[in-house]
Amino acid sequence: MNSAPFSTLSLRPELLTSIATLGYESMTPVQAQTLPHLLSGKDLIAQARTGSGKTAAFAIGLLNKLEAQAYCTQALVLCPTRELADQVAAEIRRLASTIPNIKLLTLCGGKPMGPQLASLRRDPHIVVGTPGRILKHIEKETLHLNTVETLVLDEADRMLDMGFHDEIMQIIGKTAVSRQTLLFSATYPDGIKKISDIVQRDPVDIRVEASHHSPDIDQIFFQVEKSERVEMLFKVIAHYQPKSSLVFCNTKQQCQELAEELRQHDLHVLALHGDLEQFERDQVLTQFAGKSSSILIATDVAARGLDVKELAAVINFELSHDPEIHIHRIGRTARAGSKGLAVSLFTDSERRRLQAIEEYQGSSAEIASTSTLKIPKNLKLYPPMITLFVNGGRKEKVRAGDLLGALTASGEIAGEQIGKITLFDKVAYVAIEQKVAKLALTILADGKIKGRKFRVRLLR
Ligand code: AMP
Repeated sequence: MNSAPFSTLSLRPELLTSIATLGYESMTPVQAQTLPHLLSGKDLIAQARTGSGKTAAFAIGLLNKLEAQAYCTQALVLCPTRELADQVAAEIRRLASTIPNIKLLTLCGGKPMGPQLASLRRDPHIVVGTPGRILKHIEKETLHLNTVETLVLDEADRMLDMGFHDEIMQIIGKTAVSRQTLLFSATYPDGIKKISDIVQRDPVDIRVEASHHSPDIDQIFFQVEKSERVEMLFKVIAHYQPKSSLVFCNTKQQCQELAEELRQHDLHVLALHGDLEQFERDQVLTQFAGKSSSILIATDVAARGLDVKELAAVINFELSHDPEIHIHRIGRTARAGSKGLAVSLFTDSERRRLQAIEEYQGSSAEIASTSTLKIPKNLKLYPPMITLFVNGGRKEKVRAGDLLGALTASGEIAGEQIGKITLFDKVAYVAIEQKVAKLALTILADGKIKGRKFRVRLLR
């Protein structure tokens, strides 16, 4: 952490208040390096990953010059996924909470158009969303971007990976030429440089050194034979028994196959890949965040924007072709000051990738022998919780308190046995301790919530 306090910046007083309320005492390195340029109106290209405080950096920048009295769209943030858009919107809302009458709208695909159209009848000050849906609104002429003063491309490299290049360029073409353009990206492939050259004016280039060096992560590599890769992965999990781990594969096919193979080892695993419908993706992420599964297998693309706190381990089933991506992957563990574990499996044919990683991080890899991996006797790797699915959500006016109340009313289940409750428009998920799961199912299935019966089942 850089020690400079936010008060060294010339920020509007409301923002200083909300920053203090959020407990942000000093700027993170990304914030300290970007904010002075951001506030002076410069275009900026910054290397920053999730967890660096980048969202607050651009949120403070755009909010500082926002005019609440002017009812037009003044800031647009493009994100690769709905999850990231939701997180970005939440952070901007928190920081904007002290400025009255700010209207922020998220516009993402996978959501019905109707409510978005209704919200757009009055122009929002800030729009956060995914490129496809934003373009749809521009085409329908329901969204007007000619007044945009701050344009943010968040996780720009991921947006390019997902094939959003043309949409992004079309959207930018609709914004005012006088805008300030801020580009945040974890990696700098050629495509990013090209976009920057076209859409930015003399941008300040900021790369935060710290992201190459990860003192808070124990990083271990194991050389394995191709044929024993799955077996070794199982051994790694059994040996370290991380409370939560994110396993990276390079392809979605590999992701699905690996999930099946680990299930045969009696592990509870979830897989996240591009072929999932949005509701399936929500369900997987809710289960993982609710500790109902401790292993999530994902591709880099599917894991974008994933913000799981306290990830105990990142495991690379295969090494990435790109050392920057490797660093980005392992940076997901060891957040918020706790030490993380990064384990990578590689075969002889992946040696060159390993060398590239060593060169990139400027230190040699610690390669351990697989003989050090021990499977404890009576190994039980069950997740502590299980997720209950309820076929009713915000639309039915179901609130977390209603679910909690229904479950604890008889006194058989204690509040502490209930974990994360997640509400969506039409469904809700309740994480519950394994040992009271059946009881919880019976209580909810037989009883009523808000005077209504809902369909309930356990997600195994
Ligand atoms: P991000 O990199 O934007 O995903 O932010 C990571 C987390 O850091 C978020 O939960 C922020 O609320 C938090 N955060 C951002 N800036 C600061 C700060 N200056 N001090 C402490 N926490 C922060």
